[in-house]
Amino acid sequence: MEESDMSEPLLNVKNLSVNVEEKSILHGINLTINKGETHVLMGPNGAGKSTLGCTLMGNPNYHVTDGEIFFGGENITKEAADKRAKLGMFLSFQNPLEVPGISLSNFIRSALSARTGKNVRIWDFNKELQKAMEVLDMDPSYGFRDLKILQLLLLNPSLAILDETDSGLDVDAVRTVSKGIEEYQKSKDGALLIITHSTRILESLHVDKTHVLVDGHLVAEGDGSLVDEINEHGFEQFIVSANEKGENN
Ligand code: ADP
Ligand code: MG
Repeated sequence: MEESDMSEPLLNVKNLSVNVEEKSILHGINLTINKGETHVLMGPNGAGKSTLGCTLMGNPNYHVTDGEIFFGGENITKEAADKRAKLGMFLSFQNPLEVPGISLSNFIRSALSARTGKNVRIWDFNKELQKAMEVLDMDPSYGFRDLKILQLLLLNPSLAILDETDSGLDVDAVRTVSKGIEEYQKSKDGALLIITHSTRILESLHVDKTHVLVDGHLVAEGDGSLVDEINEHGFEQFIVSANEKGENN
């Protein structure tokens, strides 16, 4: 397990601007996440939430045009995705991952080997997998639906970015995901960045900070109560301030 300087934030994003296919998507993002904190990133569709997740993880399609990303005090702006995974960053994708011909458990085991840099013995892995499934009350036949949340518990990242992990899930599945996240929050001192445009998944979770992204600008920040406010009044109130920021760019 990598130890970072206590005085350093776990994640420190400074003035980050990002292009996708020559189009400027994110504008001067500043974001600090400390060890063990749960942050929520909200915003309307197309705001750039997934772009931020992909950029943090080092997806090569997302080009940093300005600013820097520090993880555990180390400047990782130019590091490849696998290096970031090894340092303890984890991104669960919005779209369910399909890996033809590879079983769910083999897939996670490979990811775990990549994360630890060691070959994980199948016997040890199966024991861990079973434990995690019991914690989640998980029906193995659910398969891919629960893959992301199982990965979260098994890979034990120091920063987990969960992108719309709740979208398209029924009530029971949302409960499984929430339970997994709660388990991660309580047993590890990992941090979370939960990206969502709905608030269902957040109902039973402790949230330290909420950020609102509109049109590639972070336009508001608050504690967990900002989630409730957005629940009631939507994003309307923030869209004006995003337009003002855009004009000044
Ligand atoms: P959100 O996750 O908040 O809904 P996205 O980050 O997916 O928003 O998208 C923000 C903008 O970036 C959109 O205008 C989208 O069209 C564009 N975009 C994101 N990813 C890509 C991509 N891989 N190729 C082309 N355009 C993209
Ligand atoms: Mg998205």
